[in-house]
Amino acid sequence: MQLMHDFFVNMMIMLALLFIYYQFYRDENLAPTSSIKRKIFSGLYAGLIGIFLMIYSIQVDATTIVDLRHIPLLLVTLYGGALPGFIALVVIQVTRFLIGINLSSFVSLSLLTSLYLGYLLFRKWEIPILIKAIWMLIYSNVIFSLMIVYFLLDIKSLFSEINVLYWVTSIVTGLMAIYTTEHLRKINYLFREYKKSATIDPLTGLNNVRSFDEALNRAVQAAATDENKPLSLLVIDIDHFKKVNDTYGHAAGDIVLKQFGKTLRSAARLNDVVSRNGGEEFTILLGDCSNREALEIGERVRAIIEENSFMITKDISIHITASIGASTFPETVPTPSQLYREADEALYQAKRSGRNRIYSNEQTVKVY
Ligand code: GH3
Ligand code: MG
Ligand code: MG
Repeated sequence: MQLMHDFFVNMMIMLALLFIYYQFYRDENLAPTSSIKRKIFSGLYAGLIGIFLMIYSIQVDATTIVDLRHIPLLLVTLYGGALPGFIALVVIQVTRFLIGINLSSFVSLSLLTSLYLGYLLFRKWEIPILIKAIWMLIYSNVIFSLMIVYFLLDIKSLFSEINVLYWVTSIVTGLMAIYTTEHLRKINYLFREYKKSATIDPLTGLNNVRSFDEALNRAVQAAATDENKPLSLLVIDIDHFKKVNDTYGHAAGDIVLKQFGKTLRSAARLNDVVSRNGGEEFTILLGDCSNREALEIGERVRAIIEENSFMITKDISIHITASIGASTFPETVPTPSQLYREADEALYQAKRSGRNRIYSNEQTVKVY
């Protein structure tokens, strides 16, 4: 009964602490490429899990206890590599010595050290991570068995209750910890993907219309409270884009859109918000930018697009043009919330009067 109780407590400790760990760093899963800070934190955290497992160990009988301190060491070395594994090893072992220096603390030292070194070798093995983790668990159990045979100097101890129990608890808890870890990593990954897709246009990597709206709202609020800082908007639409799709196919159209997005990003200033608002319509939100500057930037963008060759395949490149509508608060609109509507109207004027040009408030800036 006591055994089942201890076993259950140890499993729950492991699950709870793993779950908390994966709430800390949602933005990135621990990997060999993680920052040093991240690795140190993870090593310390794994060490902490090891300490908890050591304190709440599993009582086999009146004189024997086993614990699962090797599992956090296994996980952190598997995912994070040598540094976090080493930190976890040191934390667990130093705590073990603080509890008491005796034969079993030295058994722990040799056990953990050989496990750690073995885990490092396993890491290089290129097989699916779950299979690898299972092999690492089996390896841990084999080393444990060898240790008790060595220290107890008795081959019969292989069949002792402690060894059998160690195998069972280590495999069951280990599998559960590994499965939970993989699951939490996948959840974090999906969480990040979901967050990204909510704000980023997947084709061009620019802001999508949703984050454009947010950026515009923020800029509008800032501009409304500080009238000295003008705010400009360029709405950019590719001319006769339907023809590109009709002539070269939709996939080629996508390639052009992608390059178009890159061209806009590099033509804009560093802090300008460049977005794909839908289809072949893009915007550039220009903070602290007068109407004259906005028209200069827009004209530069228009000229770069006209001169650029858009590669569709290795051999085919095409030329496209774009029309641009511009508006500026407070010069062309009295309230910043009218920026979009006016730039869109100006774009319509640019289209109507022949395309490949930039318009602002009914005034032609450049006509070809
Ligand atoms: P205009 O000069 O008046 O803007 O002409 P247009 O052909 O560019 O405008 P229209 O609005 O008639 O057509 C836009 C085209 O853009 C139609 C649609 O097939 C294409 N389009 C919209 N989104 C995508 C996309 O994601 N990928 C591709 N390849 N084409 C798209
Ligand atoms: Mg168009
Ligand atoms: Mg359009």
